[in-house]
Amino acid sequence: MIYGVFSDVHANFEALRLVLGFYEKNKVEHFICCGDLVGYGPQPQECVQALMALKDFRAVTGNHDAAVTGRMDMKWFNPNACAAIEFTRKNLSGASLAFLSALPEKLEPPDFTVVHGSPRKPMTEYLLGENQFLDNLKLWEVSPCFMGHTHMPAYFRQNAAGLPESDFLGPMRRMTVGAGRFMFNPGSVGQPRDNDPRASCAIYDTVTKVFEVFRVSYDIEKTSRLINEFKLPVALGERLALGF
Ligand code: ZN
Repeated sequence: MIYGVFSDVHANFEALRLVLGFYEKNKVEHFICCGDLVGYGPQPQECVQALMALKDFRAVTGNHDAAVTGRMDMKWFNPNACAAIEFTRKNLSGASLAFLSALPEKLEPPDFTVVHGSPRKPMTEYLLGENQFLDNLKLWEVSPCFMGHTHMPAYFRQNAAGLPESDFLGPMRRMTVGAGRFMFNPGSVGQPRDNDPRASCAIYDTVTKVFEVFRVSYDIEKTSRLINEFKLPVALGERLALGF
C-alpha cells in the first residue's frame, strides 16, 4: 500500500491543497497525518474539512489539536500560539471539533506506528537527538515509526552494529527500511522550520518499504495575507517565508 505521510499542517490550507494535489498526481490514496492539523494558520476549518473528506485518512492528535479541544492546558504555549488557538476554536465547526477531539495519541496499524512527538511522550517530546531515539527505542511495536512536532524532515535508525544514526532528510532522498528500527519525520506541510519554506511531505510504500520526502511549492504570500487579514500575530505569517 502507498501512503501519503505528512504532519503539522497547522491550518495552512494553501500548502495542504497543493500537497494533496501532489499526492493525487502520484496516485496516493491512503493518508497518515502525525498531528497538528490546526494551530498557527488562518484556515483551520478548510483544512480539517479537506482531511475529513479523504477516503482513507488517519491521524494522531498533536499538541495544538489537543489545546484547541481543551485536552491540553494553554500554559504550555507561547503567546502567538495561544492567540492562534483561540482563533481556531472560534473558526471550527462542531463536526471539526468533534473530529479533533477523537484523535488518538498513538496509531499502531499493522505496517507502522504513528505519534506526534515521540512514543514516550506522544504530544510533547521534540525528538531531535540520537539519545532520545535510543530512550524511545523499545516503546513502540511496529517499525517504522512516523512522527512530527519538530517541523523538520529527518530519520533515525539503528545501523548494522546496532548504533544510532540520524540525519535530516532532504527532498528526494529515499530511505529503505531494513533490519533494526527506523523513525521518520516527514517535516511540516504548513510551517516548515528547516530553512526551506516549501511544504514538506512524504510517501511510504509498505511493500518496497521505501520512505521518500518531497517539497511542494505553494502560495506563501496568500497564507501570510490571510494571517494578517484575520488579525493573527504578524510573526506567524513572516516566518513562513523564511522556512522557520
Ligand atoms: Zn506543530
